[in-house]
Amino acid sequence: NMQVSRPPLNIRLCGPRGFCAGVDRAIQIVVLALKRYGAPVYVRHEIVHNRYVVEGLEAKGAIFVEELNEIPAEHRHQPVVFSAHGVPKSVPEDAQSRNLFYLDATCPLVSKVHKQAMRHQRLGRHVVLIGHAGHPEVIGTMGQLPEGTVSLIETVEDAGGYQPSDPDNLGYVTQTTLSVDDTAGVIAKLQERFPNLTAPSADSICYATTNRQEAVKQAAPGCDLFIVVGAPNSSNSKRLVEVALRAGATRSLLVQRASEIDWESIGTIGTLGISAGASAPEVIVDEIIEAFRERFDASVELAITTEENEHFLVNRELRDIELTRE
Ligand code: SF4
Repeated sequence: NMQVSRPPLNIRLCGPRGFCAGVDRAIQIVVLALKRYGAPVYVRHEIVHNRYVVEGLEAKGAIFVEELNEIPAEHRHQPVVFSAHGVPKSVPEDAQSRNLFYLDATCPLVSKVHKQAMRHQRLGRHVVLIGHAGHPEVIGTMGQLPEGTVSLIETVEDAGGYQPSDPDNLGYVTQTTLSVDDTAGVIAKLQERFPNLTAPSADSICYATTNRQEAVKQAAPGCDLFIVVGAPNSSNSKRLVEVALRAGATRSLLVQRASEIDWESIGTIGTLGISAGASAPEVIVDEIIEAFRERFDASVELAITTEENEHFLVNRELRDIELTRE
């Protein structure tokens, strides 16, 4: 009758973590559209970058497509929702020309970046977008302006080699989910080379990105392992892994579900940091903590750096349902 003793483990649970106001709103829009218009509700691109969320909405009757031409003609009166990351202007135009009814779930903070980019251009500046090539938000922001009028800069090296045709007339915006520290480096390089570079009137990196990175930065020193709950295509989640490593965590992993964890490789750890990207639901954070509790004598300590109170209203068409929502 041997007693198996579980090794002690101190878990530092970061806050703020997980869902931001833009993700919460985007998911609500799909849920409310299903209530109001019935299934199916089409969603162009993953509404937020999380499989668990996508599968949950699929179970309720959402159908995910990459492009509008995948929506069958007999369903063109059902709504199509555009994802939180934003879309190029050509997408609502295309929806209109196909007579589709669309609901735009673009995060208001992404729309704000779109407006800043358009403002730079209206004032005669060439737009420099700092971001990651191929990310849907970058495709959406570039697609606010005519092709060829936005230059994408990804790294300090790109900033060093950039050769604009009118170096005195540049304005920048950034992706909302970048590394705060890396982006400061890219901007510093651009400013050093182009002193007349104009900043957007408000920071493009959003409050949720900034707060999650700051919380991880505070909690990571001394962690033997730092787990970020999030998807491999989630930009803000990937940045949290980098922040944890840079701030001193010995090892950091991006994990979508507890079942993904390779327990053999975890080995002996005394302190574990946990955070979650802006698109990762809290139930998965709980699932992962539970999985560690089964194997360790774990105590959870909250590592909270700030409170968040942001809340974004859903589209006008859906607001009255929101009020009666249980
Ligand atoms: Fe909006 Fe920021 Fe959330 Fe993106 S991460 S949806 S910009 S609040």
